Amino acid sequence: MKLGTPLSPTSIKVMLLGSGELGKEVAISLQRLGVEVIAVDRYAHAPAMQVAHRSHVIAMTDADALRAVILAERPHLVVPEIEAIATEVLAEIERDGIAEVIPTARATQLTMNREGIRRLAAEELGLPTSPFAFADSLDALQAAIAGGIGYPCLVKPVMSSSGKGQSTLKSAQDIQAAWDYSQAGGRVKGGRIIVEGFIDFDYEITLLTVRAIGPSGSVETFFCEPIGHRQVNGDYVESWQPQPMSAMALAKAQDIARKITDGLGGRGLFGVELFVKGDAVWFSEVSPRPHDTGLVTLRTQRLSEFDLHARAILGLPVDTGLDRIGASAVIYGGKDAVGIAYEGVEKALALPGSDIRLFGKPEAFVRRRMGVALASGATTDEARARAKQAADCVKPI
Ligand code: AMP
Repeated sequence: MKLGTPLSPTSIKVMLLGSGELGKEVAISLQRLGVEVIAVDRYAHAPAMQVAHRSHVIAMTDADALRAVILAERPHLVVPEIEAIATEVLAEIERDGIAEVIPTARATQLTMNREGIRRLAAEELGLPTSPFAFADSLDALQAAIAGGIGYPCLVKPVMSSSGKGQSTLKSAQDIQAAWDYSQAGGRVKGGRIIVEGFIDFDYEITLLTVRAIGPSGSVETFFCEPIGHRQVNGDYVESWQPQPMSAMALAKAQDIARKITDGLGGRGLFGVELFVKGDAVWFSEVSPRPHDTGLVTLRTQRLSEFDLHARAILGLPVDTGLDRIGASAVIYGGKDAVGIAYEGVEKALALPGSDIRLFGKPEAFVRRRMGVALASGATTDEARARAKQAADCVKPI
């Protein structure tokens, strides 16, 4: 693929399906390489649309609308940023050679559903995961827990992300509420759930794993330093890099990440989520795209996860090295309002080694991620404290 000039016959065109904060950074990385960027999302003025050459507002779950926009634009690459997409259209587009789907149409299909990716990881690849079962009814859920999953356990809709519809059950008393919540929180109604045994991990990591053309001339696997993170209600609140790990745990983590990303195929960056206890490592999930906890790499790596994704999908060489120790902390909307302003940015940026990103989302919600504070430090503890302090300085008004 030869890079060219945007808006000219030599242009390389990339269509982002999903235009949130992660897509915005991917768009910026692509723009720096002179790529023509087309941003798509279900609402106008989404973050990536603000830095793209063009944008389209469609429901990406609407197969006809999605097919029409791809056929009208004829991008070279289609890059999904979210899971809720009519992935059967991506399979068609790939099959008919209309565009390359990143990383592959099959990867987007398997990862949009917790069942697809869990069966690939645990049953086909034999990777260690939490004990799990699937259920379509309250009775089936009860039977699965009684049949071996036990307590504590987690219930999650198979079609959901960011903790939506997810709860932790401590005893039989929690089953009804967990079932009801799962039915309210999934992307589709009447939804199937996964019930997972609780892993009492020491810490959890995201291992950013890149499949890119390497020195051999074919696709090779590259790993970033592990990212530690803290989740509240299934949503990330802070992350740091590197997360110290034993050599044994790191080797196991890389082995799992290599196997799952080989299983999904294609080129691009993947966020492999793993639980670690001592030297034991469990696979949890994988995003076939940049990961929210990887926002920290905007501060810590010469090439952020977004730069790496851009390079990998374009067939260019990557460098996953860490430049400095750093951390990220999420800035929330704090209120439900349109067109909010931010106070205290100057205080945040006066802290040593700090930086921020404000995503420019048109509408804020109390728990909506509106920005992120970044910081470096001599240790991860120092970086985390600074990032948190910087995030706390920024007050939506
Ligand atoms: P998920 O939506 O599956 O990424 O889960 C969100 C977060 O919930 C994870 O990052 C963990 O902190 C926690 N979690 C999910 N599954 C488990 C599990 N089986 N055992 C312990 N914690 C879990």
